[in-house]
Parts: sequence; structure tokens; C-alpha cells
Amino acid sequence: MSLIKYTTSHGWQFELKLRRTAQKNIILRVDHLGQVRISAPPSVTLAKLQHWLTVNEAKFSHFWQQAWQAQQARVDMPQKIWFRGQSYTYAISQGDKIVWHPLKGFSLPNLSTAQQRELMVNWLRMQAQSVLIERLHHWSRIMQLEPKAVALSQAKTFWGVCRSRTGIRLNWRLIGAPDHVIDYICIHELSHIQHPNHGAAFWSLVARYTTEIKPAKMWLSQYGQQLFQFG
Ligand SMILES: [Zn+2]
Repeated sequence: MSLIKYTTSHGWQFELKLRRTAQKNIILRVDHLGQVRISAPPSVTLAKLQHWLTVNEAKFSHFWQQAWQAQQARVDMPQKIWFRGQSYTYAISQGDKIVWHPLKGFSLPNLSTAQQRELMVNWLRMQAQSVLIERLHHWSRIMQLEPKAVALSQAKTFWGVCRSRTGIRLNWRLIGAPDHVIDYICIHELSHIQHPNHGAAFWSLVARYTTEIKPAKMWLSQYGQQLFQFG
């Protein structure tokens, strides 16, 4: 898979993921995040593809509009911000940093959306660094199971991972989840030090330290996707 750049006549810039296929035609697709994919037979050179895109732009005007809107939606600020199990509204303030209040929610500096997003992600990651890692150490002491190392991850596909060589990594987005969910993930990953599988012995070890297995899993299946509000 390679990337090719294309700028429409409106000045909209795209990075297209190119896939070579055996089919004869050139096919354009856009996913829900606005990522444009193009597939073409190997005989079509990159220069020819660029030419094809330019020549056919008007024909695909609806397509480019849809892709652009999906990309823009992704860079807007979310309506609400998840933090420690609650979703908060936010206000714009005159200050120059993020302020959080348990009742009033967040206040954000009056900056561009992109800058607000960046500040917000940095703030959440900083909270994750202290809260999640501290919870992991807390449970590590109680369970007397010591991972090789602990760190945050920005994986899109898992909440936590435990490997014998690299230790435990927790997804920073868990900072949006309530404490019982954070604790469950910590206990789950620490239990993997003893049982690197999901067998009966593993689950009985997890259950020794939390009664919240089911509620935590339910919370994640209901709200987990929303914790990816910043991508
Ligand atoms: Zn597991």
C-alpha cells in the first residue's frame, strides 16, 4: 500500500491510499473517517493515475465533497469530552490553558479547533500518565505481580496488552472511562503475567480482585468507541 497526494480544483488536499489489484478498472472509495482509497491495476503508472484523477474530477465531484466533509467532521471538536467516566461539556474562556471542574466541566482557550484538540489530547494524556500508571502500580502491589515495564499506548484495537518481554501497556484513552473500568483493565493485564491466556484459571484470578468484570465489559462495549473521540 502506498500513498499518493491529490489536490482538487477547490484546493482540497487528500492523501489517497493506493492498492494494486488485478481488476481492470480504477476504483475510488472513501471510508467513514474520510480516508480515500484508490485501487488500480499495476499497469497504471502514478503519473497516469494523477492524470486520471484530474480529468475525472468533475465526474466525481460528489465523491470529493463527501470525502472532504468526512475529513472535516473528524477535525471538529467533539460535543462532549469523556473524562473519568463522565462526558463533560466545555466552554471557551480567556485563559491560555485547559481547566477542568467536576461540576462545570472543561474550559478551553479561545484558539482554533485544531489547537484546542491538540491541547485537549495533551491534557488527557498527561492525566492518563499519572492516573492509569498509578492504578496499575496500585494493583501490582496488591496482586504481587510485577510487569517488566509499564507504559501508555495509543493503539486503536486494544485497551491493554501484557507481554512477558515488554510488560503492560494501557491505552491512554482509558482516562475517559470510570474507575471500575480502569481497575478491571489493570487487573486483567496483571493477571496475564501469571496466565498468558483467557482460560478458567485466568478468569478466577481476575475475579479474586474485582467483582466488576461484567459491568466493566458492558461499559466498554457501550461507550468504548466514544473514547476515541480524538482519534
Ligand atoms: Zn486478555
